Amino acid sequence: MAYATTNPYTGEVVKTFETASEQQVAEAIDKADEAFQTWHLKPIAERLQVLQKAADLLRADVRGFASILTLEMGKLIGEAEAEVNLCIGMLEYYVANAEQQLAPRTLPAKGFDEGDVVIHHEPLGVLYAVEPWNFPFYQVIRIGAPQFSAGNTIVLKHASNVPQSALAMEKLFRDAGAPEGLLVNVFASHDAADQILSDPRVRGVALTGSEGAGASVSATAAKYLKKSTLELGGADAFIVLEDAEIDKAVKWAVFGRHWNAGQVCCSSKRLIVADSIYDEFVEKYRKAVAELVAGDPMDEATTLAPLSMQSAADDLAELVEAARGEGCTVEEVGERVPEQGAFFQPTILTDIPLDSETSQTEFFGPVSQIYRAKDDDDAVRIANSSPFGLGGSVFSQDTERAQRIARRLDTGMVYLNQPTGVKPDVPFGGTKRSGHGRELVDLGLHEFVNAKVVVNSDIDGSF
Ligand code: NAP
Repeated sequence: MAYATTNPYTGEVVKTFETASEQQVAEAIDKADEAFQTWHLKPIAERLQVLQKAADLLRADVRGFASILTLEMGKLIGEAEAEVNLCIGMLEYYVANAEQQLAPRTLPAKGFDEGDVVIHHEPLGVLYAVEPWNFPFYQVIRIGAPQFSAGNTIVLKHASNVPQSALAMEKLFRDAGAPEGLLVNVFASHDAADQILSDPRVRGVALTGSEGAGASVSATAAKYLKKSTLELGGADAFIVLEDAEIDKAVKWAVFGRHWNAGQVCCSSKRLIVADSIYDEFVEKYRKAVAELVAGDPMDEATTLAPLSMQSAADDLAELVEAARGEGCTVEEVGERVPEQGAFFQPTILTDIPLDSETSQTEFFGPVSQIYRAKDDDDAVRIANSSPFGLGGSVFSQDTERAQRIARRLDTGMVYLNQPTGVKPDVPFGGTKRSGHGRELVDLGLHEFVNAKVVVNSDIDGSF
């Protein structure tokens, strides 16, 4: 697997990088372990200073960092800047909260005095992070900010199409004053997972990516009895009840389905609309999607970016053809997207048979599935018929009704009257084939922390 920066807007191969040798992978683990030996012993306040400095460095050059993202995976420059700001938010969240979230916890236990049974939160060591290209900085900070706070260090294997983003993250922490090895980038092959996870110094793996990658890497982790967290795909339901504000729901659906060119794990991929407003919603949705402007992602006027690479567009086209073959109605919307660049014509799928492959598939790009729901129960049934369980949305003016539906969705996240969000201070993660484990807030922090109990049992000689 060759690592390369290929501009998805121009198709130009900008820079290539050699895949790491076994020796280089071994050196990366050595470095991360060496850093761990000092890093985890530092007072937490010192560790958090490095996080704050990293946030300050990002803030000082939002456009510079954002340009790397746009160059490598084609996202709109405004969205790239928002990603950099989100990273600042995550870093500063842990600067403000990690110490309290890692504080020892005293347990009330029968026969013991207050303070005799205490849980201490201790780091584990080196972690392996395998990350995808769709949010090249966010993904690294999402695991890095909590785990560096806790005292762990990371060997990073980033996606092969965002090598410069990976290097920028490594440099960010070095420039922030971290010990060499706190975050070590390695241009690893898929096969390197075995070498890395078999090393006793590597204590776990966090992977974000496809189901195939998750299954493969977590199987390797299981072979060596290592913990894994998996943040995988999604096909979020976006439920619009008949009492929703239709124009608002349409606006959010267009955004939820098309930001990052539709390549978001928690994109609003399946719009499930109440029967009585279905026709009005679809008409307005079609019109709004047609207004998207495809073009240069560096141009602020562009609202639809190219996909991350040409092969992604080709794969998506195959899925759309398969949907047509299954009897779905396929409608291409809007002006023709440019020939140059990995663009994909916005497409709407309707009349999707519920037992079809299409209904079970994640479309990673600007393809909307729209379903008609007879009533609330039907909407929940359609929503839960997906193999994925990442996020979801419910649109209604009746908050209690929306809350009730939210509680019935088999997913890790539900947002009311907004697409599933990505926020620095709200946990992220899913159920079913969307993976297991959580990232962010205290939940993410504790995924790779040893909750060690220390019991002062020298009470009266009894056991
Ligand atoms: P991907 O192909 O699985 O790639 C993700 C990462 O896994 C890359 O670093 C990739 O390396 C690596 N990888 C892939 N197969 C591997 C294997 N067999 N062994 C070891 N490493 C392997 O995913 P993608 O297509 O780039 O990303 C899109 C997917 O990620 C979508 O399904 C999306 O929904 C999901 N995603 C989920 C979340 C979440 O938080 N739940 C967030 C973002 C994306 P190479 O690049 O070298 O192949």
